Amino acid sequence: MTMRDADVLIVGAGPAGLMLAGELALAGVDVAIVERRASQDLVGSRSGGLHSRTIEVFDQRGIAEPFLSEGQKAQVAGFAGVQLDISDFPTRHPYGLGLRQRHIERILAGWIGELKVPIYRGIEATGFAQDDTGVDVGLDDGRSLRAQYLVGCDGGRSLIRKAAGIAFPGSDPTTSNLIAEAELAETPPEWGIRRDALGIHSLARVEYEIRDGQIVYADQGPVGILVTERHVGATSEPTLADLREALIAVYGTDYGAHSPTSITRFTDAARQAAAYRKGRVLIAGDAAHIHPPDGGQGLQTGVQDTVNLGWKLAQVIKGISPDSLLDTYHTERHPVGARVLRNTMAAVALRREDERTKALRDTMAELLGMDEPRRRFAAMMSGLDIHYDLGEGHKLLGRRMPDLNLVTANGPLRVFTLLHDARPVLLNLGEPGGFDITPWADRVKLIDAKYDGAWELPVLGAVTAPDAVLIRPDGYVAWVGDRHALGLPDALTTWFGPPAAV
Ligand SMILES: Cc1cc2nc3c(=O)[nH]c(=O)nc-3n(C[C@H](O)[C@H](O)[C@H](O)COP(=O)(O)OP(=O)(O)OC[C@H]3O[C@@H](n4cnc5c(N)ncnc54)[C@H](O)[C@@H]3O)c2cc1C
Repeated sequence: MTMRDADVLIVGAGPAGLMLAGELALAGVDVAIVERRASQDLVGSRSGGLHSRTIEVFDQRGIAEPFLSEGQKAQVAGFAGVQLDISDFPTRHPYGLGLRQRHIERILAGWIGELKVPIYRGIEATGFAQDDTGVDVGLDDGRSLRAQYLVGCDGGRSLIRKAAGIAFPGSDPTTSNLIAEAELAETPPEWGIRRDALGIHSLARVEYEIRDGQIVYADQGPVGILVTERHVGATSEPTLADLREALIAVYGTDYGAHSPTSITRFTDAARQAAAYRKGRVLIAGDAAHIHPPDGGQGLQTGVQDTVNLGWKLAQVIKGISPDSLLDTYHTERHPVGARVLRNTMAAVALRREDERTKALRDTMAELLGMDEPRRRFAAMMSGLDIHYDLGEGHKLLGRRMPDLNLVTANGPLRVFTLLHDARPVLLNLGEPGGFDITPWADRVKLIDAKYDGAWELPVLGAVTAPDAVLIRPDGYVAWVGDRHALGLPDALTTWFGPPAAV
Protein backbone atom coordinates (compact mmCIF):
# COMPACT_ATOMS: atom_id res chain seq x y z
CA MET A 1 0.00 0.00 0.00
CA THR A 2 1.43 3.41 -0.94
CA MET A 3 1.74 5.58 2.10
CA ARG A 4 0.47 9.14 2.08
CA ASP A 5 -0.07 11.98 4.50
CA ALA A 6 -3.46 12.32 6.22
CA ASP A 7 -5.36 14.87 8.30
CA VAL A 8 -5.12 12.58 11.31
CA LEU A 9 -2.52 9.93 11.82
CA ILE A 10 -3.19 7.27 14.45
CA VAL A 11 -0.36 5.16 15.81
CA GLY A 12 -1.64 1.74 16.85
CA ALA A 13 -4.42 -0.44 15.44
CA GLY A 14 -5.53 -1.94 18.76
CA PRO A 15 -9.15 -1.51 19.83
CA ALA A 16 -8.70 2.21 20.58
CA GLY A 17 -6.95 3.07 17.31
CA LEU A 18 -9.44 1.09 15.23
CA MET A 19 -12.46 2.69 16.89
CA LEU A 20 -11.02 6.19 16.52
CA ALA A 21 -10.31 5.56 12.85
CA GLY A 22 -13.93 4.50 12.36
CA GLU A 23 -15.26 7.59 14.14
CA LEU A 24 -13.10 9.93 12.07
CA ALA A 25 -13.89 8.20 8.80
CA LEU A 26 -17.63 8.44 9.53
CA ALA A 27 -17.16 12.16 10.07
CA GLY A 28 -15.49 12.41 6.66
CA VAL A 29 -11.97 13.03 7.97
CA ASP A 30 -8.95 11.74 6.07
CA VAL A 31 -7.36 9.33 8.57
CA ALA A 32 -4.68 6.65 8.42
CA ILE A 33 -3.17 4.22 10.93
CA VAL A 34 0.40 3.10 11.38
CA GLU A 35 0.67 -0.29 13.08
CA ARG A 36 3.74 -2.25 14.10
CA ARG A 37 2.05 -5.66 13.88
CA ALA A 38 2.19 -7.21 10.43
CA SER A 39 -1.43 -8.37 10.67
CA GLN A 40 -4.40 -7.86 12.98
CA ASP A 41 -3.76 -11.30 14.53
CA LEU A 42 -3.43 -10.96 18.26
CA VAL A 43 -1.27 -13.44 20.05
CA GLY A 44 -2.43 -14.34 23.54
CA SER A 45 -5.42 -13.54 25.65
CA ARG A 46 -6.26 -10.03 26.60
CA SER A 47 -9.79 -8.69 26.91
CA GLY A 48 -12.40 -11.35 27.52
CA GLY A 49 -15.32 -9.36 26.17
CA LEU A 50 -17.51 -6.31 26.26
CA HIS A 51 -19.47 -4.52 28.94
CA SER A 52 -22.93 -3.13 28.37
CA ARG A 53 -21.94 0.46 27.59
CA THR A 54 -19.41 -0.63 24.98
CA ILE A 55 -22.10 -2.73 23.29
CA GLU A 56 -24.34 0.35 23.35
CA VAL A 57 -21.57 2.46 21.83
CA PHE A 58 -21.26 -0.04 18.97
CA ASP A 59 -25.04 -0.11 18.66
CA GLN A 60 -24.99 3.69 18.27
CA ARG A 61 -22.92 3.16 15.14
CA GLY A 62 -24.98 0.26 13.85
CA ILE A 63 -22.11 -2.21 14.32
CA ALA A 64 -23.26 -4.14 17.41
CA GLU A 65 -24.66 -7.05 15.41
CA PRO A 66 -21.44 -8.93 14.59
CA PHE A 67 -20.29 -8.66 18.22
CA LEU A 68 -23.66 -9.91 19.49
CA SER A 69 -23.76 -12.82 17.09
CA GLU A 70 -20.18 -13.97 17.76
CA GLY A 71 -20.10 -13.28 21.48
CA GLN A 72 -21.89 -15.01 24.32
CA LYS A 73 -24.24 -12.94 26.43
CA ALA A 74 -23.55 -13.19 30.13
CA GLN A 75 -23.66 -11.22 33.34
CA VAL A 76 -20.03 -10.13 33.41
CA ALA A 77 -19.99 -7.16 35.78
CA GLY A 78 -18.52 -7.87 39.19
CA PHE A 79 -16.56 -6.41 42.05
CA ALA A 80 -14.72 -7.96 44.99
CA GLY A 81 -15.61 -11.42 43.73
CA VAL A 82 -19.34 -10.63 43.69
CA GLN A 83 -21.20 -10.96 40.42
CA LEU A 84 -23.33 -7.89 39.77
CA ASP A 85 -26.40 -8.65 37.74
CA ILE A 86 -27.61 -5.89 35.42
CA SER A 87 -30.51 -7.79 33.88
CA ASP A 88 -32.97 -5.30 35.40
CA PHE A 89 -31.12 -2.25 34.04
CA PRO A 90 -32.88 0.12 31.63
CA THR A 91 -30.78 -0.60 28.56
CA ARG A 92 -31.37 -2.64 25.42
CA HIS A 93 -28.26 -4.62 26.37
CA PRO A 94 -28.59 -5.53 30.08
CA TYR A 95 -25.65 -7.96 29.88
CA GLY A 96 -22.06 -8.22 28.76
CA LEU A 97 -20.55 -10.35 26.04
CA GLY A 98 -17.91 -13.02 26.32
CA LEU A 99 -15.78 -12.45 23.23
CA ARG A 100 -12.02 -12.55 23.05
CA GLN A 101 -10.07 -9.46 22.08
CA ARG A 102 -8.72 -11.07 18.93
CA HIS A 103 -12.30 -11.33 17.66
CA ILE A 104 -13.21 -7.82 18.83
CA GLU A 105 -10.23 -6.46 16.91
CA ARG A 106 -11.02 -8.51 13.82
CA ILE A 107 -14.59 -7.20 13.73
CA LEU A 108 -13.49 -3.60 14.26
CA ALA A 109 -10.81 -3.94 11.60
CA GLY A 110 -13.45 -5.25 9.20
CA TRP A 111 -15.56 -2.18 9.86
CA ILE A 112 -12.79 0.32 9.25
CA GLY A 113 -11.84 -1.67 6.16
CA GLU A 114 -15.36 -1.00 4.85
CA LEU A 115 -14.81 2.66 5.70
CA LYS A 116 -11.63 2.48 3.58
CA VAL A 117 -9.22 3.62 6.28
CA PRO A 118 -5.67 2.72 5.26
CA ILE A 119 -3.66 0.76 7.83
CA TYR A 120 0.07 0.81 7.18
CA ARG A 121 1.10 -2.46 8.80
CA GLY A 122 4.48 -3.72 9.82
CA ILE A 123 5.64 -0.15 10.39
CA GLU A 124 6.67 1.37 13.66
CA ALA A 125 6.44 5.04 14.58
CA THR A 126 9.76 6.17 16.05
CA GLY A 127 9.10 9.77 17.04
CA PHE A 128 7.54 13.03 15.93
CA ALA A 129 8.06 16.76 15.68
CA GLN A 130 5.14 19.18 15.89
CA ASP A 131 4.92 22.74 14.64
CA ASP A 132 2.13 25.31 14.32
CA THR A 133 0.33 23.58 11.48
CA GLY A 134 0.98 19.89 11.91
CA VAL A 135 3.04 16.96 13.06
CA ASP A 136 5.75 15.01 11.24
CA VAL A 137 5.81 11.40 12.36
CA GLY A 138 9.03 9.45 11.89
CA LEU A 139 8.81 5.78 10.84
CA ASP A 140 11.26 2.94 11.30
CA ASP A 141 11.77 2.56 7.55
CA GLY A 142 13.23 6.06 7.43
CA ARG A 143 10.18 7.67 5.91
CA SER A 144 7.91 10.16 7.62
CA LEU A 145 4.25 11.11 7.38
CA ARG A 146 2.69 14.48 8.05
CA ALA A 147 -0.72 15.06 9.64
CA GLN A 148 -2.60 17.94 11.20
CA TYR A 149 -3.06 15.86 14.36
CA LEU A 150 -1.40 12.75 15.72
CA VAL A 151 -3.16 10.37 18.09
CA GLY A 152 -1.16 7.82 20.07
CA CYS A 153 -3.30 4.69 20.50
CA ASP A 154 -0.09 2.78 20.92
CA GLY A 155 -0.71 0.96 24.17
CA GLY A 156 0.64 1.13 27.71
CA ARG A 157 4.24 1.65 26.71
CA SER A 158 3.19 4.42 24.32
CA LEU A 159 6.08 5.96 22.46
CA ILE A 160 3.87 8.88 21.50
CA ARG A 161 3.09 9.66 25.14
CA LYS A 162 6.76 9.47 26.06
CA ALA A 163 7.94 11.51 23.07
CA ALA A 164 5.33 14.16 23.90
CA GLY A 165 6.87 14.40 27.36
CA ILE A 166 3.54 13.61 29.02
CA ALA A 167 4.05 12.44 32.60
CA PHE A 168 2.58 9.05 33.57
CA PRO A 169 2.23 9.17 37.35
CA GLY A 170 0.82 6.31 39.40
CA SER A 171 1.65 3.21 41.39
CA ASP A 172 4.38 0.66 40.80
CA PRO A 173 3.41 -3.00 40.69
CA THR A 174 2.87 -5.04 43.84
CA THR A 175 2.02 -8.29 42.03
CA SER A 176 3.14 -9.88 38.80
CA ASN A 177 1.29 -12.49 36.76
CA LEU A 178 2.06 -14.65 33.80
CA ILE A 179 -0.74 -15.30 31.38
CA ALA A 180 -0.23 -17.95 28.74
CA GLU A 181 -1.89 -20.27 26.29
CA ALA A 182 -0.21 -23.66 26.11
CA GLU A 183 -0.79 -27.40 25.89
CA LEU A 184 -0.67 -29.48 29.06
CA ALA A 185 0.66 -33.05 28.82
CA GLU A 186 -1.24 -34.03 31.97
CA THR A 187 -4.83 -33.21 32.90
CA PRO A 188 -4.89 -31.18 36.10
CA PRO A 189 -7.09 -32.63 38.87
CA GLU A 190 -8.61 -29.20 39.39
CA TRP A 191 -9.71 -26.58 36.86
CA GLY A 192 -10.63 -23.00 37.53
CA ILE A 193 -9.42 -20.49 40.04
CA ARG A 194 -7.10 -21.21 42.94
CA ARG A 195 -6.15 -18.66 45.57
CA ASP A 196 -3.27 -18.87 47.98
CA ALA A 197 -0.92 -16.60 49.87
CA LEU A 198 0.86 -15.72 46.62
CA GLY A 199 -2.30 -14.58 44.85
CA ILE A 200 -4.72 -15.78 42.25
CA HIS A 201 -4.09 -18.54 39.68
CA SER A 202 -6.25 -20.26 37.15
CA LEU A 203 -6.28 -23.07 34.62
CA ALA A 204 -9.05 -23.22 32.05
CA ARG A 205 -9.51 -24.39 28.49
CA VAL A 206 -9.35 -21.51 26.04
CA GLU A 207 -12.55 -22.57 24.31
CA TYR A 208 -15.80 -22.30 26.23
CA GLU A 209 -19.53 -21.85 25.87
CA ILE A 210 -22.02 -20.13 28.11
CA ARG A 211 -24.98 -22.37 28.93
CA ASP A 212 -27.72 -21.07 31.21
CA GLY A 213 -25.45 -18.28 32.35
CA GLN A 214 -22.66 -20.70 33.33
CA ILE A 215 -19.32 -21.05 31.60
CA VAL A 216 -18.82 -24.57 30.25
CA TYR A 217 -15.24 -25.18 29.17
CA ALA A 218 -14.24 -27.44 26.28
CA ASP A 219 -12.95 -30.94 27.11
CA GLN A 220 -9.78 -30.56 25.13
CA GLY A 221 -7.58 -28.06 23.40
CA PRO A 222 -5.15 -25.40 24.59
CA VAL A 223 -5.28 -24.18 28.16
CA GLY A 224 -5.33 -20.61 29.36
CA ILE A 225 -2.93 -20.34 32.28
CA LEU A 226 -2.84 -17.53 34.78
CA VAL A 227 -0.27 -17.75 37.50
CA THR A 228 1.00 -15.26 40.02
CA GLU A 229 4.79 -15.00 40.12
CA ARG A 230 6.76 -15.20 43.33
CA HIS A 231 8.67 -12.02 42.57
CA VAL A 232 7.69 -8.65 41.19
CA GLY A 233 9.93 -6.67 38.89
CA ALA A 234 11.08 -9.07 36.14
CA THR A 235 11.90 -7.03 33.06
CA SER A 236 12.86 -9.67 30.49
CA GLU A 237 10.28 -11.26 28.17
CA PRO A 238 8.77 -14.27 29.96
CA THR A 239 9.76 -17.73 28.73
CA LEU A 240 8.36 -21.28 28.96
CA ALA A 241 10.91 -21.90 31.72
CA ASP A 242 9.48 -18.96 33.71
CA LEU A 243 5.96 -20.31 33.22
CA ARG A 244 6.94 -23.82 34.34
CA GLU A 245 8.75 -22.48 37.38
CA ALA A 246 5.76 -20.36 38.40
CA LEU A 247 3.38 -23.33 37.94
CA ILE A 248 5.58 -25.61 40.04
CA ALA A 249 5.74 -23.00 42.80
CA VAL A 250 1.94 -22.96 42.99
CA TYR A 251 0.71 -26.42 41.92
CA GLY A 252 3.81 -28.48 42.73
CA THR A 253 3.93 -29.50 39.04
CA ASP A 254 3.95 -27.81 35.65
CA TYR A 255 1.53 -30.44 34.24
CA GLY A 256 3.98 -30.89 31.38
CA ALA A 257 3.19 -27.47 29.94
CA HIS A 258 4.53 -27.22 26.40
CA SER A 259 4.01 -25.60 22.99
CA PRO A 260 2.91 -22.19 24.27
CA THR A 261 1.34 -19.91 21.67
CA SER A 262 1.77 -16.94 23.96
CA ILE A 263 3.28 -16.04 27.32
CA THR A 264 2.93 -12.51 28.60
CA ARG A 265 3.37 -10.77 31.90
CA PHE A 266 1.02 -8.25 33.44
CA THR A 267 1.17 -6.49 36.75
CA ASP A 268 -1.07 -4.34 38.88
CA ALA A 269 0.79 -1.14 38.00
CA ALA A 270 -1.74 1.68 37.79
CA ARG A 271 -0.75 4.84 35.95
CA GLN A 272 -2.55 7.60 34.16
CA ALA A 273 -1.28 10.28 31.80
CA ALA A 274 -1.21 13.69 33.45
CA ALA A 275 -2.56 15.19 30.21
CA TYR A 276 -4.40 13.51 27.34
CA ARG A 277 -3.30 16.23 24.94
CA LYS A 278 -0.17 18.14 24.14
CA GLY A 279 -0.75 20.59 21.30
CA ARG A 280 -1.49 18.60 18.18
CA VAL A 281 -0.79 15.28 19.84
CA LEU A 282 -3.43 13.32 21.73
CA ILE A 283 -3.37 9.94 23.44
CA ALA A 284 -6.15 7.43 24.05
CA GLY A 285 -6.66 3.93 25.42
CA ASP A 286 -3.86 2.16 27.26
CA ALA A 287 -1.51 4.94 26.11
CA ALA A 288 -3.44 7.18 28.52
CA HIS A 289 -4.10 4.73 31.35
CA ILE A 290 -2.89 1.35 32.55
CA HIS A 291 -4.31 -0.61 35.43
CA PRO A 292 -4.82 -4.24 36.43
CA PRO A 293 -7.32 -6.23 34.35
CA ASP A 294 -9.75 -6.70 37.28
CA GLY A 295 -13.28 -5.99 36.14
CA GLY A 296 -12.30 -6.09 32.46
CA GLN A 297 -12.36 -2.35 31.90
CA GLY A 298 -9.27 -1.47 29.84
CA LEU A 299 -10.57 -2.07 26.34
CA GLN A 300 -13.94 -0.54 27.19
CA THR A 301 -12.36 2.63 28.55
CA GLY A 302 -10.07 2.94 25.54
CA VAL A 303 -12.84 2.45 22.99
CA GLN A 304 -15.00 4.97 24.81
CA ASP A 305 -12.11 7.47 25.02
CA THR A 306 -11.98 7.49 21.26
CA VAL A 307 -15.74 7.86 20.82
CA ASN A 308 -15.45 10.97 22.99
CA LEU A 309 -12.50 12.27 20.98
CA GLY A 310 -13.43 11.35 17.39
CA TRP A 311 -16.23 13.82 16.64
CA LYS A 312 -14.44 16.64 18.45
CA LEU A 313 -11.27 16.13 16.46
CA ALA A 314 -13.31 15.90 13.24
CA GLN A 315 -14.98 19.23 13.94
CA VAL A 316 -11.65 20.91 14.67
CA ILE A 317 -10.13 19.52 11.47
CA LYS A 318 -13.09 20.77 9.45
CA GLY A 319 -12.81 24.24 11.01
CA ILE A 320 -16.26 23.92 12.60
CA SER A 321 -14.98 24.22 16.16
CA PRO A 322 -11.97 25.92 17.74
CA ASP A 323 -9.10 23.74 18.76
CA SER A 324 -10.02 24.37 22.44
CA LEU A 325 -12.87 21.83 22.00
CA LEU A 326 -10.13 19.19 22.22
CA ASP A 327 -9.43 20.20 25.81
CA THR A 328 -12.84 18.83 26.79
CA TYR A 329 -11.55 15.40 25.79
CA HIS A 330 -9.14 15.47 28.73
CA THR A 331 -11.64 17.17 31.06
CA GLU A 332 -14.28 14.52 30.39
CA ARG A 333 -12.23 11.36 30.01
CA HIS A 334 -9.48 11.84 32.61
CA PRO A 335 -11.93 11.47 35.54
CA VAL A 336 -13.42 8.33 33.95
CA GLY A 337 -9.95 6.78 33.68
CA ALA A 338 -9.07 7.87 37.23
CA ARG A 339 -12.11 6.06 38.56
CA VAL A 340 -11.15 2.88 36.72
CA LEU A 341 -7.68 3.10 38.26
CA ARG A 342 -9.24 3.52 41.68
CA ASN A 343 -11.63 0.60 41.43
CA THR A 344 -8.98 -1.74 39.99
CA MET A 345 -6.53 -0.81 42.75
CA ALA A 346 -9.24 -1.55 45.30
CA ALA A 347 -9.99 -4.85 43.55
CA VAL A 348 -6.34 -5.88 43.79
CA ALA A 349 -6.23 -5.03 47.48
CA LEU A 350 -9.42 -7.07 47.98
CA ARG A 351 -7.99 -10.14 46.29
CA ARG A 352 -5.28 -10.68 48.92
CA GLU A 353 -5.62 -13.89 50.84
CA ASP A 354 -4.85 -12.91 54.42
CA GLU A 355 -7.60 -13.25 57.02
CA ARG A 356 -8.23 -9.54 57.34
CA THR A 357 -8.62 -9.04 53.60
CA LYS A 358 -10.99 -12.01 53.49
CA ALA A 359 -13.03 -10.32 56.21
CA LEU A 360 -13.04 -7.11 54.18
CA ARG A 361 -14.09 -9.02 51.06
CA ASP A 362 -16.95 -10.64 52.96
CA THR A 363 -17.98 -7.21 54.23
CA MET A 364 -17.97 -5.85 50.68
CA ALA A 365 -19.98 -8.85 49.53
CA GLU A 366 -22.54 -8.13 52.22
CA LEU A 367 -22.77 -4.52 51.10
CA LEU A 368 -23.03 -5.45 47.43
CA GLY A 369 -25.81 -7.86 48.32
CA MET A 370 -28.00 -4.82 49.01
CA ASP A 371 -29.81 -3.43 46.05
CA GLU A 372 -28.61 0.18 45.95
CA PRO A 373 -24.88 -0.68 46.22
CA ARG A 374 -25.40 -3.47 43.67
CA ARG A 375 -26.92 -1.02 41.20
CA ARG A 376 -24.24 1.62 41.74
CA PHE A 377 -21.29 -0.73 41.39
CA ALA A 378 -22.85 -2.64 38.51
CA ALA A 379 -23.41 0.63 36.65
CA MET A 380 -19.83 1.68 37.32
CA MET A 381 -18.34 -1.62 36.19
CA SER A 382 -20.47 -1.78 33.05
CA GLY A 383 -19.86 1.88 32.12
CA LEU A 384 -23.55 2.78 32.21
CA ASP A 385 -23.25 5.49 34.84
CA ILE A 386 -20.70 7.74 33.12
CA HIS A 387 -21.53 11.36 33.77
CA TYR A 388 -19.63 14.20 32.16
CA ASP A 389 -19.84 17.36 34.21
CA LEU A 390 -21.75 19.70 31.90
CA GLY A 391 -23.13 21.79 34.75
CA GLU A 392 -26.36 21.83 36.71
CA GLY A 393 -29.65 20.87 35.17
CA HIS A 394 -31.80 17.93 34.17
CA LYS A 395 -30.43 14.53 35.22
CA LEU A 396 -29.90 13.59 31.60
CA LEU A 397 -27.37 16.37 31.11
CA GLY A 398 -23.91 14.84 30.58
CA ARG A 399 -25.33 11.31 30.76
CA ARG A 400 -25.92 8.68 28.09
CA MET A 401 -29.04 9.11 26.01
CA PRO A 402 -31.21 6.00 26.36
CA ASP A 403 -32.05 4.08 23.21
CA LEU A 404 -35.76 4.90 23.19
CA ASN A 405 -38.29 3.54 20.73
CA LEU A 406 -39.53 6.71 19.05
CA VAL A 407 -42.40 7.26 16.69
CA THR A 408 -41.86 9.72 13.87
CA ALA A 409 -43.95 10.87 10.92
CA ASN A 410 -42.04 8.25 8.91
CA GLY A 411 -42.68 5.42 11.36
CA PRO A 412 -40.87 3.89 14.32
CA LEU A 413 -37.27 4.83 14.97
CA ARG A 414 -34.70 3.97 17.63
CA VAL A 415 -32.65 6.80 19.10
CA PHE A 416 -29.43 4.87 18.44
CA THR A 417 -30.31 4.58 14.76
CA LEU A 418 -30.22 8.37 14.64
CA LEU A 419 -26.59 8.23 15.78
CA HIS A 420 -25.34 5.78 13.16
CA ASP A 421 -23.70 8.50 11.09
CA ALA A 422 -22.07 10.06 14.20
CA ARG A 423 -23.75 13.41 13.77
CA PRO A 424 -25.39 15.49 16.52
CA VAL A 425 -29.17 15.34 16.91
CA LEU A 426 -31.68 17.75 18.38
CA LEU A 427 -34.55 15.49 19.33
CA ASN A 428 -37.84 17.34 19.74
CA LEU A 429 -40.42 15.28 21.61
CA GLY A 430 -42.76 18.25 22.12
CA GLU A 431 -44.92 20.09 19.61
CA PRO A 432 -43.68 19.23 16.10
CA GLY A 433 -41.98 22.15 14.35
CA GLY A 434 -41.24 23.83 17.68
CA PHE A 435 -37.55 24.43 16.90
CA ASP A 436 -35.66 26.42 14.32
CA ILE A 437 -31.93 25.70 14.27
CA THR A 438 -31.29 26.90 10.72
CA PRO A 439 -27.86 28.42 11.59
CA TRP A 440 -26.69 24.93 12.65
CA ALA A 441 -28.75 22.89 10.20
CA ASP A 442 -25.64 21.96 8.20
CA ARG A 443 -24.26 20.16 11.28
CA VAL A 444 -27.14 19.18 13.55
CA LYS A 445 -30.08 16.96 12.61
CA LEU A 446 -33.44 18.13 13.92
CA ILE A 447 -35.88 15.28 14.50
CA ASP A 448 -39.50 15.64 15.59
CA ALA A 449 -40.71 12.49 17.32
CA LYS A 450 -43.05 11.14 19.96
CA TYR A 451 -42.15 8.97 22.90
CA ASP A 452 -44.77 7.70 25.31
CA GLY A 453 -42.74 5.24 27.38
CA ALA A 454 -40.97 5.58 30.70
CA TRP A 455 -37.83 7.66 31.19
CA GLU A 456 -35.45 5.66 33.27
CA LEU A 457 -31.70 5.93 33.78
CA PRO A 458 -29.37 3.32 35.28
CA VAL A 459 -29.00 3.86 39.06
CA LEU A 460 -30.99 7.11 39.06
CA GLY A 461 -34.27 5.46 38.10
CA ALA A 462 -37.16 7.52 36.75
CA VAL A 463 -36.36 11.03 35.50
CA THR A 464 -38.70 13.77 34.31
CA ALA A 465 -39.60 13.38 30.64
CA PRO A 466 -37.84 16.17 28.74
CA ASP A 467 -39.43 18.03 25.80
CA ALA A 468 -36.21 18.19 23.86
CA VAL A 469 -32.64 16.92 24.11
CA LEU A 470 -29.49 17.76 22.21
CA ILE A 471 -27.49 14.57 21.73
CA ARG A 472 -23.78 14.62 20.91
CA PRO A 473 -22.40 12.12 18.40
CA ASP A 474 -20.96 10.09 21.30
CA GLY A 475 -24.48 9.60 22.67
CA TYR A 476 -24.17 11.93 25.67
CA VAL A 477 -26.76 14.63 26.26
CA ALA A 478 -25.47 18.20 25.82
CA TRP A 479 -28.66 20.13 26.51
CA VAL A 480 -32.16 19.47 27.85
CA GLY A 481 -35.07 21.91 27.51
CA ASP A 482 -38.25 22.81 25.73
CA ARG A 483 -39.39 24.92 22.76
CA HIS A 484 -38.37 28.12 24.56
CA ALA A 485 -34.86 26.83 23.80
CA LEU A 486 -33.31 28.53 26.81
CA GLY A 487 -29.56 28.03 26.54
CA LEU A 488 -29.84 26.04 23.31
CA PRO A 489 -27.88 28.47 21.07
CA ASP A 490 -25.06 28.45 23.65
CA ALA A 491 -25.02 24.66 23.82
CA LEU A 492 -25.06 24.38 20.04
CA THR A 493 -22.18 26.84 19.77
CA THR A 494 -20.15 25.22 22.54
CA TRP A 495 -20.41 21.74 21.08
CA PHE A 496 -21.03 22.18 17.39
CA GLY A 497 -19.49 25.54 16.54
CA PRO A 498 -20.79 29.06 15.97
CA PRO A 499 -23.96 29.69 13.94
CA ALA A 500 -23.49 29.89 10.19
CA ALA A 501 -24.36 33.23 8.61
CA VAL A 502 -27.87 32.73 7.24
C1 LIG B 1 -4.31 -10.22 30.83
C2 LIG B 1 -5.17 -9.10 30.37
C3 LIG B 1 -6.55 -9.22 30.45
C4 LIG B 1 -7.35 -8.17 30.02
N1 LIG B 1 -8.70 -8.32 30.12
C5 LIG B 1 -9.50 -7.30 29.73
C6 LIG B 1 -10.91 -7.43 29.77
O1 LIG B 1 -11.45 -8.47 30.12
N2 LIG B 1 -11.65 -6.37 29.39
C7 LIG B 1 -11.09 -5.20 28.96
O2 LIG B 1 -11.82 -4.26 28.64
N3 LIG B 1 -9.76 -5.07 28.88
C8 LIG B 1 -8.95 -6.07 29.25
N4 LIG B 1 -7.61 -5.94 29.16
C9 LIG B 1 -7.05 -4.67 28.69
C10 LIG B 1 -7.08 -4.55 27.17
O3 LIG B 1 -6.41 -5.63 26.59
C11 LIG B 1 -6.41 -3.23 26.78
O4 LIG B 1 -6.94 -2.19 27.58
C12 LIG B 1 -6.62 -2.88 25.33
O5 LIG B 1 -5.97 -3.77 24.46
C13 LIG B 1 -6.10 -1.47 25.06
O6 LIG B 1 -6.32 -1.15 23.73
P1 LIG B 1 -5.42 -0.05 23.03
O7 LIG B 1 -5.91 0.01 21.64
O8 LIG B 1 -5.40 1.17 23.86
O9 LIG B 1 -3.93 -0.61 23.12
P2 LIG B 1 -3.32 -1.97 22.55
O10 LIG B 1 -4.33 -3.04 22.45
O11 LIG B 1 -2.11 -2.23 23.37
O12 LIG B 1 -2.90 -1.61 21.07
C14 LIG B 1 -1.78 -0.79 20.80
C15 LIG B 1 -1.34 -1.06 19.38
O13 LIG B 1 -0.31 -0.14 19.04
C16 LIG B 1 0.71 -0.84 18.34
N5 LIG B 1 1.94 -0.06 18.56
C17 LIG B 1 2.54 0.17 19.74
N6 LIG B 1 3.61 0.98 19.56
C18 LIG B 1 3.67 1.26 18.24
C19 LIG B 1 4.54 2.05 17.44
N7 LIG B 1 5.57 2.73 17.98
N8 LIG B 1 4.32 2.12 16.11
C20 LIG B 1 3.27 1.44 15.55
N9 LIG B 1 2.42 0.68 16.26
C21 LIG B 1 2.60 0.60 17.59
C22 LIG B 1 0.72 -2.22 18.95
O14 LIG B 1 1.27 -3.16 18.07
C23 LIG B 1 -0.77 -2.45 19.18
O15 LIG B 1 -1.41 -3.06 18.09
C24 LIG B 1 -6.77 -6.97 29.55
C25 LIG B 1 -5.38 -6.86 29.45
C26 LIG B 1 -4.59 -7.90 29.87
C27 LIG B 1 -3.10 -7.76 29.78
